[in-house]
Amino acid sequence: AAATATTLFVFYELKQVFFDPRYAASKPPAPKVNGLPDLIGNTPIVRINSLSKLTGCDIYAKLELTNIGGSSKDRVAYELIRAAEASGKLLPGRGDVIFEGTSGSTGISLTTVGRALGYRVHIVLQDDTSPEKITLLESLGATVEKVKPASIVDPDQFVNLAEKRAIELTSDPSTPAMGLFANQFENDNNWKVHYNHTAPEIFSQMNGKLDAFVAGAGTGGTISGIAKYLRERIPQLGVYLADPQGSGFYNRVNFGVLYDKVEKEGTRRRHQVDTVVEGIGLNRLTHNFLVGEELIDGAVRVSDKQALMMAKFLTVNDGYFWGSASAIAAVGCVKVAQQLGPGKKLLMIATDSGARHLSKFWKMAAKEDSEITLEEILNEK
Ligand code: PMP
Repeated sequence: AAATATTLFVFYELKQVFFDPRYAASKPPAPKVNGLPDLIGNTPIVRINSLSKLTGCDIYAKLELTNIGGSSKDRVAYELIRAAEASGKLLPGRGDVIFEGTSGSTGISLTTVGRALGYRVHIVLQDDTSPEKITLLESLGATVEKVKPASIVDPDQFVNLAEKRAIELTSDPSTPAMGLFANQFENDNNWKVHYNHTAPEIFSQMNGKLDAFVAGAGTGGTISGIAKYLRERIPQLGVYLADPQGSGFYNRVNFGVLYDKVEKEGTRRRHQVDTVVEGIGLNRLTHNFLVGEELIDGAVRVSDKQALMMAKFLTVNDGYFWGSASAIAAVGCVKVAQQLGPGKKLLMIATDSGARHLSKFWKMAAKEDSEITLEEILNEK
């Protein structure tokens, strides 16, 4: 009996090694690398099986949440720090500090990558940002300054204040330290890192075959950089923006104006005030959005409720635990798949994980019905 058991066990083990996808012998070995920056980029793409089956399309997600700092913003942080070093604006060992106004992900990436490259980081954020992101920033050793949400014309608005703080440090005669205002909204290195790295990865992973690309926009760097590169190589590629409620981008793409009669004055939302979706949606035009705007074929509107339902749907059906911006992109992808018809290949970006959104977005998403259907999500307003 022992011999039979041993034989069966050996058989079982061999079957795991050769046929279980987790141990697939054909998989290239994971790399051994020399430091944190080497853990940025080269993210996997996964087919979302539930959504693919239900739409008759192949719906893929590029898992930017697998970057070492937890989001696609690692790439932007690395690129803009390196560019600032190359132009002499940052120098390790001088006490230089990187300043940014951010809803969280960029701050977390700037702090993670900044620490690895020898810089301190000072983040200004709105006091309604999810507490786990604030705790994470503080744990990483960033200086965190919380301010009330305010209009972009207010000098104490979070982005404006970050710039002011950088200028204050640079002009302080008591220290040689310089302040760098990272300025992800206007900085060309933002869209360029997606053009030079994220997009070529996608093109190669998809073997050049893709019918549509769907993404949300915060600064616009992701959609602009990726759309620009992919459209140059796949001229018939459709590019679609998935936009959360209250954001002006939807109207801008579809009707040419940020605001229109669709949203009455009183219902206009300032950036990230009356929504549980963080990181995407804006009511002003940034340089990074304008760079790729003409490449966007259309925008789809996704409500907070739809995002909450989709987040739960993907967890229940596929085991994914994604953040609000990823859920918005997934709903957008399904809407576009329905417009295009079956048999198409679509790709979205899963930008960050649900772990960053526990107390706001997931507190609500967790309560959504686990029997939820895709039809119910699409019928929801
Ligand atoms: N997802 C998350 C989680 C983000 O934080 C951001 C940027 N704030 C985006 C998506 C949007 O990316 P981009 O700024 O390149 O438009």
